[in-house]
Amino acid sequence: MSVMQRFTARKSVAVAAAAALVLALVMLIARGDSSKADTPTAGTSVIILSGDGMGIQQRTAIQYALYGLKERQPMDALPYTGFLDTISAGPIAVTDSAAGATAWAIGKKTINGYTGLGPDKKRVPTLLDIAKQQGKTTALINDHDVTNATLASFGGPVINRDWKSTIAKKEIYNDKVDILMGGNEAYWYPKGNPGKIPNTVPEEDASEGTQGNLVQKAIDQGYQYAYDRKTVSELTGPKVLALVQDSAKRRWEVEKGYKYKKDPHYVPVVDMVKKALDIADDNPNGFFFAMESDDLDSAGHEHDVRNVIQSGQTINQVVEAIQEYRQTNPNVLLIVLADHETGGMTIEPMGETNTNSDGDDPIPYWSNKALNNAGPKGQVPTRSGPVTIKGTNRKFKVDWTTPEHTGGMVPVTAVGPLADDLVGVHHNTWVFDVAKRALLGQE
Ligand SMILES: [Zn+2]
Repeated sequence: MSVMQRFTARKSVAVAAAAALVLALVMLIARGDSSKADTPTAGTSVIILSGDGMGIQQRTAIQYALYGLKERQPMDALPYTGFLDTISAGPIAVTDSAAGATAWAIGKKTINGYTGLGPDKKRVPTLLDIAKQQGKTTALINDHDVTNATLASFGGPVINRDWKSTIAKKEIYNDKVDILMGGNEAYWYPKGNPGKIPNTVPEEDASEGTQGNLVQKAIDQGYQYAYDRKTVSELTGPKVLALVQDSAKRRWEVEKGYKYKKDPHYVPVVDMVKKALDIADDNPNGFFFAMESDDLDSAGHEHDVRNVIQSGQTINQVVEAIQEYRQTNPNVLLIVLADHETGGMTIEPMGETNTNSDGDDPIPYWSNKALNNAGPKGQVPTRSGPVTIKGTNRKFKVDWTTPEHTGGMVPVTAVGPLADDLVGVHHNTWVFDVAKRALLGQE
């Protein structure tokens, strides 16, 4: 070996050693990433995404039906997982959505029915208020009534979740909600004013606002107003109010022959989320979004696994859109959770009979008769299955124990700054602690 050859050999050994060192460092950093999430900064954004009523069995049924046994669904592919208890401050042991979301919004367990207020009924800053104090853009988005309990817990504090028009008024008058998108214009227009969306199911659609024309008041407050796919696509912000078809994806239950894709007033939740990200992206201070699929809870109350899965698709689409946004904007904490489970849903093999107690025979709030009876020999009612596991010829069905909420823990998955703090078993109020620190840029 000549001197030159020896030199070259030594050089290539040195190059190989350096490459190995770099590789080891990269692997170390990558491993560090998977065990420790990023540190928040002043510009950190937070998104809370709830599948209302989405317990472990619902999440699993959505996984099997839409993604099969190989590919992990987007909401479960997030790197950090924990569990949250769901108990409220009472009076019963099992929470409603108001107390469930208030635990995240203000970090206190409260009385069922209160939105954004502790048991002492005192107004305290919600995560949305805290985000606004930091100069962030705020959004409340769902697939159902924008004045419902989950969103009201962040932007419409009241002691009775049924005060819909009062909640609507608070959402636009407290000057804290920049982006408000969802369904049910009925509480925004006074009786006799049909609004923008045709009243095809009069008892469902008719205006019943008690606070005057709140849409006009929102416009006077500087909000851009949208009511269908075209007007939503034209929104530029910074303040927007979109009142679109309420619960469009499960409207076929109440309106014969209704097809949501043909309705110009149906706006996919994922499109509203992308629009909101587009508007909020202009703010260097970041943003705070609280979002939910409320239809998932309704599907549980109605014992309809088909609509549970359809709502799960909505949630996964939203997670995908946010993950895509995070590729270029990683400083976003995304938390996917639930306020409680609904229906006592359980995945079962096809051979089992279905029970015909109140579990399988609920009277939905929009009907006067039971609609999901098991057959006389316990045959599976149509709303309970069968469901095919994607990519297989195997089928399952579900059974239910109650038309109401249940009290077990719910899974939470997360990605982004402080996401690792959600690993473990926590009170549902812990979500507030973690999200607040992220919004304030504190470790
Ligand atoms: Zn419910």
